[in-house]
Amino acid sequence: RRNSTMLRTDRLDAFYGLFQALFGFTFHVAPGETVALIGSNGAGKSTLLRSIVGSVRTRHDGVLLNDQAIGGDPERKQLNCGIALVPEGRRLFPSLTVLENLQLAARNGRTGPWSIERLMREFPVMQAFQHRPATALSGGQQQLVALSRALVCNPTYLLCDEISLGLSPVAVNEVYDLLGRARNDGLAVVLVEQNVKRALTESDRYYCIQKGRVVLEGSSDSADQAQVAQAYFGI
Ligand code: ATP
Repeated sequence: RRNSTMLRTDRLDAFYGLFQALFGFTFHVAPGETVALIGSNGAGKSTLLRSIVGSVRTRHDGVLLNDQAIGGDPERKQLNCGIALVPEGRRLFPSLTVLENLQLAARNGRTGPWSIERLMREFPVMQAFQHRPATALSGGQQQLVALSRALVCNPTYLLCDEISLGLSPVAVNEVYDLLGRARNDGLAVVLVEQNVKRALTESDRYYCIQKGRVVLEGSSDSADQAQVAQAYFGI
């Protein structure tokens, strides 16, 4: 994999204090593909995303972008590298309006196909609510804003942590519709998704994670649902 254009981890160990959350975790994602991380609560999915953006302590040069170690650098640097995270729970700035949340992100991001204007055009609802505080929106609308906030940074790699959690079925479809448009633009997506079926339909490849380790991986098309469920529940 010399000089390969991809984001990967190489035998990554990650820690919270003395507690080790990831063990020798090796994974990769390339532009244009979507990879799903599947596993029960506490398996380590969020920790992998946090390791990539440098907010968790990792050992060695475990996170590599185009074969260059980037692990441990602050999030700002990840943004310049083209990596953006949609965090679990959205984490919008509650005192800022929708528009201000997007403007703040765009200032720190790169230029590219995704502008605030384009997002507002594609999502009239967001345009209509642009001057409202972000937290005045419904959960589904907030998730669209959270995803938009990552997109206006024009990342090459988009990390999505539970973007459908707690949303109505209609809102879930809207969020995945927006993600689909991003994927059409050639983004690489890493998807943490509780809904295993959805995770597999939305992805090209998957990794099943158990207690901080990859226990199963493969192409999502040919995934054996029973095998994945078994890996998921750890039986
Ligand atoms: P979830 O669906 O709950 O987010 P997950 O697969 O994303 O599950 P992680 O959040 O990555 O799981 O957690 C992996 C392990 O690390 C768990 O045992 C969890 O208790 C532990 N952990 C997560 N965050 C912290 C933290 N800030 N401090 C200490 N331990 C943590």
